[in-house]
Amino acid sequence: MGLSEGVLCLALSQVRFGFFRPQPLYLHRTEVGDGNEHSDKMIDTVSAERRSEIMSRIRGKDTQPEMRVRRMVHAMGYRYRLHRKDLPGRPDMTFPRLGKIIMVHGCFWHQHDDPDCPANRRPKSNRDYWNAKLDRNIVRDAENYSALRERGWEVLVVWECQIRDAAALAARLQAFLSSPPPP
Ligand SMILES: [Zn+2]
Repeated sequence: MGLSEGVLCLALSQVRFGFFRPQPLYLHRTEVGDGNEHSDKMIDTVSAERRSEIMSRIRGKDTQPEMRVRRMVHAMGYRYRLHRKDLPGRPDMTFPRLGKIIMVHGCFWHQHDDPDCPANRRPKSNRDYWNAKLDRNIVRDAENYSALRERGWEVLVVWECQIRDAAALAARLQAFLSSPPPP
């Protein structure tokens, strides 16, 4: 068993012993959907979201989308600091001399506010749990942005679903970083 498999097993055993909410998977069978969906499909969806939560906890802050953005910005010649603890929300990338910050957000966890986003929909099972959790994330993000702006930082949010179009993303990053610093 490799290290990462060991970590995953540990995470899964924590799920089994109730370390994480929501409830054990079998409970969903009685509460899935609103009658329009096929039950098995809903169970798959929930378990995929849970898997994603587990994986995001293992991977922590260095997520795949974030690494893509970092590589792109680095290739453009910009240098940055990662996850500064002295700033609200520990921003993903900070460009001190430019007065700019780039945040890379997962569309599900941060609830991308775009009707065309394929990944922002809310789970239909355990609604109270998920709605409370995701609403908290939205409020925390908003508080962090305004705290950063109050301190004079300019913030760009890159959403996970915007990373697939590499050319559009590169243009956006370049435009943001090369624009004049905030006054
Ligand atoms: Zn999105």
